Amino acid sequence: MTCEGKQPESYDLFALGVLDGDEREEIQAHLDQGCETCRDAVRLRLAGWSRFAAAATPEAAPSAALRRRLLESVGAAPTRRRFAGLPAWGQALAACLLLISGAAVGWFSHLPSHPVERAVAPAAIPAPLASPEPSAALRGEVARLTALLDQQRQAAAQARREHAAGRAALASAQAELDQARRHTAEASAHLSDVQAELDRTRPALADAQKARADAQARLDAALSERDRAIRRERDLNARINFLQSRVESLTAAANNASAQLAPLLRLAALASSPSLRTLRLQPAEGHAGISGNAFLVDGSSVLVYASGLPPLKPGRVYQLWLMRSREPGIVSGGIFTPGPGGSAAIEVSSPTLATGVNTVAVTDEPAGGSKTPTGAKFFIGVKS
Ligand SMILES: [Zn+2]
Repeated sequence: MTCEGKQPESYDLFALGVLDGDEREEIQAHLDQGCETCRDAVRLRLAGWSRFAAAATPEAAPSAALRRRLLESVGAAPTRRRFAGLPAWGQALAACLLLISGAAVGWFSHLPSHPVERAVAPAAIPAPLASPEPSAALRGEVARLTALLDQQRQAAAQARREHAAGRAALASAQAELDQARRHTAEASAHLSDVQAELDRTRPALADAQKARADAQARLDAALSERDRAIRRERDLNARINFLQSRVESLTAAANNASAQLAPLLRLAALASSPSLRTLRLQPAEGHAGISGNAFLVDGSSVLVYASGLPPLKPGRVYQLWLMRSREPGIVSGGIFTPGPGGSAAIEVSSPTLATGVNTVAVTDEPAGGSKTPTGAKFFIGVKS
């Protein structure tokens, strides 16, 4: 087995049987497994300490046989308890060391609470060893060992504290880990639920999306159909309006044509009469635009055509008068309102009124007409 060796102080303390804890176990294990490094080191210390003990307490030195056995047993069975298992010479050496340590307290007065001092009752010190005069080398070695012991104890106490703190921290971390595991498990369960819900919802969502797309398509179709219907309605309305105005203008034209046709037809009927006479209409002063003719068939009818008649004031009408060669000498031929362009065609088809007529005239009269002429004269027609 390869071994780089331990601290020299560890071998010193081991050889004295006062090394504690893991270090002692470790060196013991090395010795048990035949580690030569450790065996030689411990042997060297044992030899040194036995020489030292022989010099300090000659009467307590081990016998040659005991020493030989001891040296032979190096590594075999070092004591597990401080002092108790030491060979006789070792116990004497330890007692000596403790005594010297007690004395060292006096030498090193700046160490008032030296652990070795606390650990050892003065009564336990064997009387024969009570007052040796330590050599300078011995005092130095004792001081070194005392400091070493102190360091070992402090290091052990520190290690115990750190171990306890480490345990507490480990427990706390374990608890946190457990809690985190529980949270993870809960979150996983929740995630599974959500995933399942999502899976259940997906088909319904797809259906709804398809239904929405269908409805949108139907809506689009209906909207474009409505737009087409609106355009058709607009076109039809325009056509209806056009046709209506066309009907109105055609009706007006037809009415106008029949209005013009009626007197022409009358005139055509009169023209065949051998007694037909024509009167030329003479405009009154200030009405030069008026022109026209009157056709007379005695004892049958009077027909008057005029144009250029000006519009009258509201509440006034034109009235035709027939002047005759018999009583009454003047009779009303009726009232009338001119059409477009101031044109008018008036027929008196009463044989009684149309008898003996030799002159016609037109005046401006109140609405409803008058019994005799009262207003301004517009034209007069006389026999040519
Ligand atoms: Zn070793």
